[in-house]
Order: sequence, then C-alpha cells, then structure tokens
Amino acid sequence: MKTPRKPLIIPIFIPHFGCPHQCIFCNQQSITGASGSDASGAIPSETEIHSIIHQYLEFKKDRSWTEVSFFGGNFLGLAPANIVGLLDQVAPFVASGQINGIRFSTRPDTIDKNRLDLIRPYPVSTVELGVQSMNARVLNQSHRGHTAKDTLSAVALLKKENCQIGLQMMTGLPGDNDTLCLETARQIIGLKPDFVRIYPTLVLAGSPLAVAYKAGKYRPQSLEASVDLLKKLYLLFQENQIEVIRMGLQASESLDDPATVLAGPYHPALGHLVFSKILLDTAIEKIRKKTASAKKTANDTVTLTVHPKSLSRMQGLNKTNLDILKQLFGVQHIDLKTDTALDKDAVRVN
Ligand code: SF4
Repeated sequence: MKTPRKPLIIPIFIPHFGCPHQCIFCNQQSITGASGSDASGAIPSETEIHSIIHQYLEFKKDRSWTEVSFFGGNFLGLAPANIVGLLDQVAPFVASGQINGIRFSTRPDTIDKNRLDLIRPYPVSTVELGVQSMNARVLNQSHRGHTAKDTLSAVALLKKENCQIGLQMMTGLPGDNDTLCLETARQIIGLKPDFVRIYPTLVLAGSPLAVAYKAGKYRPQSLEASVDLLKKLYLLFQENQIEVIRMGLQASESLDDPATVLAGPYHPALGHLVFSKILLDTAIEKIRKKTASAKKTANDTVTLTVHPKSLSRMQGLNKTNLDILKQLFGVQHIDLKTDTALDKDAVRVN
C-alpha cells in the first residue's frame, strides 16, 4: 500500500510509549504541549482514538488520502498486545473506506522480523524511522541507544513490506557538525526512502539536553547556521529526487513559549526561511551572471519572476530578500512577477 503525497494525517499521540529511555534531546510533552490524559501515562483508549478520528473525519473537506498516525513514541517498542490493540482500533476505519491507511513512527532498532510479522495483517501504509544521525559518535552522545547498522537493517526489512518509508534526521545534535550531517544525508539518500523530515535540535525544558545546556556542555546551532545547513541538506535531497516533507517542528503555542524551548534554532516558519534563502541565493547567482554577461552593472530595476506559490518566499520575511538584493546590486526597485510555468525553486531574471 503506497501513499500519495500530502495525506491528511489524523494524529494519535503516544508520548514516550515504547521508548527504552529518554533520548538526550527529547521531551514529547514539550513538543506537543500535551496535558491531561495525553500526559497521564495511559495508552489512548478506544473511546479516545475513535473520538479523535471522528472529529477529523467530520471536518475532512475533500477525499484526500487520509492516514491515522501514531506518533510521539516508539510504536513498535510497545508490548505486542498493545501494538495489536491499537491497530485493531483503527483497522475497521480502513476496512470501511473512511481512512486509507495507518502510519507510525518508530526506532530503527525496533524493526525486526517478529514485529513486522505481527503488523503485516494490518493496513500500515507508512513507517517513519527516527534515524537522527548515521554517525556513531553523534548517536552515542545523543543517547540514542542504537547504531547506524540498525538503521540499515531496518530499512532493508521495511523495503520488503508494502509501505512507504520516511526517514527522520536531526541537525545540531551533540557531537555533530555540518560535515557529519551532510554525510548522514548522503547515507540516507543511499537508502532511497520515500521521503525525509529534518529536525534541528532544540533545547527543550525537561530534556536531558537542557541539563547539559545549563551546565555549559552543549551549545546549540544559531538560527542562521541552521537555515544555512538545512538549505544544503534540502538541495542535496532534492538533487537526488527525495522529497523533504518537513523542516523543523510544527509550530505550536507550547513551542512559542520560551519556557519550553530554552535555546536552539526554533522558528515558527523555519521551512519558509529555508526556501527564502534558496530563492535569494538563486536570484543573486542569476543577477550576477546576467550582469557579468552584459558587462554592466544591474539596471535601476531588476525584474524577478517566480512561481506564484513562491512569491512570499522570494520576498523573504518582512521583504528582507528584496532589501538584500537592492543593497548588493545597488538597484532602486525589484519588480516581482509570477509565472505558473516555473518550478517552485526557480527564479527568472530580466
Ligand atoms: S526520540 Fe523517540 S525514542 Fe527517543 S525518547 Fe523521544 S520518542 Fe522516545
């Protein structure tokens, strides 16, 4: 069962369930702002799960591909009875055609033959693996408790199943640097996943990393450095036809609270910043080439044409990209036009 792009996801939060320990950067309650029964230590009940699914289905406007997603924990690390119990509660919605499949995230070291045999009768459409890094030092310093080899064998086993494979990687982990991140990305590309997500490391309250940070033992990436690295990673994946479906955690009230994110490159529109940087760099390169070939400086007005959906990305937040271009090339005006025939990452200069 393969999944089309951009499914509607119905999230079922299983905070830290199935986790063998707490990874250094993780605090799922902080990420989602979960409280009450979500944080009570109980696996969501059938009533809760059905109520969440019905709420989403009520507001489902079109007939897009819909998946119920168990996230925030280590799904295949749950006891077999709990795995089967959760799948049993959702499978009837797939059988009745109300949703299309089931999705979950899990650790690479929980993918094995027995667990895959256990879930094979169920309509699992997507499995996301928390790879985080392919470097032994980084995995070790991040208290992941698994190796890059676990990821290799997990992907090899999943490839035999009829589901999409998503790989998640992180940047800015303890012991990590840009070179190692790019190497992790290259190794992930070699595994040919259906999609990737990239999460910069944040210092979340209540995580072991917060303790290291307060003790001066961990220095987070700056937002600028993170955007720059994300840009390189995105372009590398794109060059290899691997879709990056998310960069950075989903913005939430909880993450906007400085008491939750103590430090690190958090921005509610991180993906937008990365795409804006990509378009800015492309525009700079194209204007340079154009002025060099014409053997003159840019005119008073430069016209940039982009795909309509890329207009705000080209402008940048608060139109900073346009200000940078004006200053760099000494022009008075930047005219922005749109053309649906262009790719979303392309810029035409006139
Ligand atoms: S990163 Fe994943 S495995 Fe580690 S504590 Fe968080 S949810 Fe559990």
